[in-house]
Amino acid sequence: MLEQSNELSAWDRDHFFHPSTHMGTHARGESPARIMAGGEGVTVWDNTGKKSIDAFAGLYCVNVGYGRQKIADAIASQAKNLAYYHAYVGHGTEASITLAKMIIDRAPKGMSRVYFGLSGSDANETNIKLIWYYNNVLGRPEKKKIISRWRGYHGSGVMTGSLTGLELFHNAFDLPRAPIMHTEAPYYFRRADRSMSEEQFSQYCADKLEEMILAEGPDTVAAFIGEPILGTGGIVPPPAGYWQKIQAVLNKYDVLLVADEVVTGFGRLGTMFGSDHYGIKPDLITIAKGLTSAYAPLSGVIVSDKVWQVLVKGSDKLGSLGHGWTYSAHPICVAAGVANLELIDEMDLVKNAGETGAYFRAELVKAVGGHKHVGEVRGDGMLAAVEFVKDRDDRVFFDASLKVGPQIATALAANGVIGRAMPQGDILGFAPPLCLTREEADTIVAKTADAVKSVL
Ligand code: PLP
Repeated sequence: MLEQSNELSAWDRDHFFHPSTHMGTHARGESPARIMAGGEGVTVWDNTGKKSIDAFAGLYCVNVGYGRQKIADAIASQAKNLAYYHAYVGHGTEASITLAKMIIDRAPKGMSRVYFGLSGSDANETNIKLIWYYNNVLGRPEKKKIISRWRGYHGSGVMTGSLTGLELFHNAFDLPRAPIMHTEAPYYFRRADRSMSEEQFSQYCADKLEEMILAEGPDTVAAFIGEPILGTGGIVPPPAGYWQKIQAVLNKYDVLLVADEVVTGFGRLGTMFGSDHYGIKPDLITIAKGLTSAYAPLSGVIVSDKVWQVLVKGSDKLGSLGHGWTYSAHPICVAAGVANLELIDEMDLVKNAGETGAYFRAELVKAVGGHKHVGEVRGDGMLAAVEFVKDRDDRVFFDASLKVGPQIATALAANGVIGRAMPQGDILGFAPPLCLTREEADTIVAKTADAVKSVL
């Protein structure tokens, strides 16, 4: 096993171009790959046999946990019967049609159709095109700008990388800036003036948005996109009243709202969708990750009836929609989606995400919340984050070069728990599978406290 592992490590170093990885340290063999081999429930193991609790569910996606036979069987059966057929010009499979119906049954009110893709990034690319198409059909060709937020994450494509509001994902790529703009991040802990209440900061964010719309001209602004809770930007719940105030501004200027629910869709916040959790009324919703619990790649755009009616008019005027992927509604992936949504119901995972998630956060607060370098423990549902600061009273942050967050995540991983050092700021993030038990939560908390102590 060790022999094979060394050989694989060499192949990996010399041939595998990893996403989101430091190319230099990898190519020089300074950060060899961890070669993952298996998983069961919340536990994964590598090919040396070392086990870890995966407290980030892969990339917040393995929501039902690893090793679920029901989904594996659905994939195998679909692969054997009909591995592929396309969904162009009105084709479908039993699984694609069933899954679309299951999604609409679970979606917030007013949603009508599902357009399938393969990744959160391609689903957001679809959103952008649908938004532009929508305004062209309505005879408003100037209304094309899209407002995103600093610290938002919406993908790594050309336009979706631009929507993303994190420096790392812009660095040296020369992504197109226009017609995409970024407004204030709803990040109370870092961005609010100390004298402001959460409500006041929410009003400030809504005012900033309105200023931007007015400065650009409301006739040029088509849409606003946001995650119900900031995810990759630091796992930051919205301040009180935020979505209501933002929604009021968008309604005033006839600007569409896209809720990017790639992380929050299908239960992570203890409700089926984050939009329901925070009272958001979106026109378009992005879904991926939890739709199949990552057993197969699948994403989607859920289209509201309001948008759908305009798209239909578009086809009547212009002909078929010129937008499709070979693998839209891939039969194997939608079969995985059907089995996954059934399993979420059978295991009552939405409820568990709310209840065990709240327990997990409360225990984290008890264990590390009082540490002098912990500025905030936050989250919602089965999402949690610990933000480290140099000085908690004056909110002074560590110099990024010290890599405090990554050091703590590394110490934690060495001790058998995988969390995630979030890409901007010293933030340790957790997004465990929704099947987490209280005992597993206790283990993550105890090991986190040890890791914090060992570094700070
Ligand atoms: N949107 C959100 C909110 C995400 O968190 C992600 C990925 O983490 C994406 C979009 C992009 O999804 P993908 O990596 O599947 O392209």
